[in-house]
Amino acid sequence: MLYGAHKSKPSGQDLTGLYSPYLERAQGCRLFDVDGESYIDWMNAFGAVPTGHSHPAVVEAAIQAITTGAHYSTAIPQEIELAELMLKLVPSIDKVHFTTSATEATMAAIRLARGYTGRNKVLKFEGHYHGWSDTVLITTSPQPLATLGHPNSPVAIVDSSGIARGAVEDTIVGPWNDINALERIFKDKGREIACVATEGIMTNVGVILPNEGYLERLQSLCEQYDVLLYLDEADTGFRVAPGGCSELLGLAPDIVSYGKALGHGFPLAAIGAKESLMGELDAGNIINLGVFNGHRAGVCAGLAGMNALHAGRNAGFDHLVSIGEAMADGIRDVISRNQKHKIICQSTGSLFQIYFTEVPKISDFRAYCEHVDSEKYRRFADHLRNFGIYLSPKNTQHNSSTLAHTLQDVDKTINAFAEALKCFD
Ligand code: PLP
Repeated sequence: MLYGAHKSKPSGQDLTGLYSPYLERAQGCRLFDVDGESYIDWMNAFGAVPTGHSHPAVVEAAIQAITTGAHYSTAIPQEIELAELMLKLVPSIDKVHFTTSATEATMAAIRLARGYTGRNKVLKFEGHYHGWSDTVLITTSPQPLATLGHPNSPVAIVDSSGIARGAVEDTIVGPWNDINALERIFKDKGREIACVATEGIMTNVGVILPNEGYLERLQSLCEQYDVLLYLDEADTGFRVAPGGCSELLGLAPDIVSYGKALGHGFPLAAIGAKESLMGELDAGNIINLGVFNGHRAGVCAGLAGMNALHAGRNAGFDHLVSIGEAMADGIRDVISRNQKHKIICQSTGSLFQIYFTEVPKISDFRAYCEHVDSEKYRRFADHLRNFGIYLSPKNTQHNSSTLAHTLQDVDKTINAFAEALKCFD
């Protein structure tokens, strides 16, 4: 973040957009800034607080942890409990390994895939963000369409200076949701690919669902070419279904990773896989190290939060979904009556996003680059804060519900949304 002279109006651009207010505290689904304003929060720390801010069980578990030694760097019973809950929710994996961030989880997943298969290449997709490591920080940011190249041979665009040239050489970038492109890539390079990294639902260009049959075809190509399927569930895990995209879309990935919703506001992430793969980590043949891996406070807080969501046959989780769906329905109702702006809303379960666009649907990164007015979204998110609503400031992010949101919060938001649209140009 760049800091400016005025506390709540920093000059320049931060990672979440222009002029984010400086926040002082948060409780439930409310954010409070240093100027005394409050907002209903739909950004929720990029989706990392599914029980809302300072859920009592999460707070208690975290306090209990830090007052008994924040971290030991050795095994604790709570990580077994959390791992067992995760395995119950995601039957396709046998073991989990905790890391601190989802970026590290992705790094571990890719190393595991490369180490296990003895292959170097990784296939990733345009617009999919898997953290900021060299292998995957490629073609994640929206670009003018011409810059992306032809969909049959997309240009791999590094999103940062300092990315190793070798990393780019070993990363294949493909358009997502395009079966023909997928088949072409596997035919050309399938036997060189260690793993395909994908989200099940794109959540870093808003919310984009897979076309029917797309992921199934991806899974079958992976099997045919002995390529590992790595599903990044940092955003979707324990969010779009109790067992994430694996459950919702009926996938059986070889490796999965989690972040955000796992830690309930604390830095905690994980990878999971079958015993045959995880055994390589256990044996130390493939290394993922980290003093703070499976941080004790994070594991305890994460376990408390996960229990709050999944107790009583996932009652908490069902609440997230019903609030998310009510928000998406309410927004669709408002925008269908609004003559001034062309807007669509895309959603799944607790995740939703709006796009200012002339087209009825955004189904891939290229469509987003071509048809979405993301600058207008940014201005609208800024404008909406004057009405007490905090949407994700960037259109490429998504919005989400929490256990703390109520239907009254949905009504307030929808009314504010309608009012805000009336005086928005
Ligand atoms: N993978 C996905 C799908 C993400 O959305 C993100 C973060 O936004 C990451 C990985 C990286 O997560 P972190 O910032 O915790 O390293």
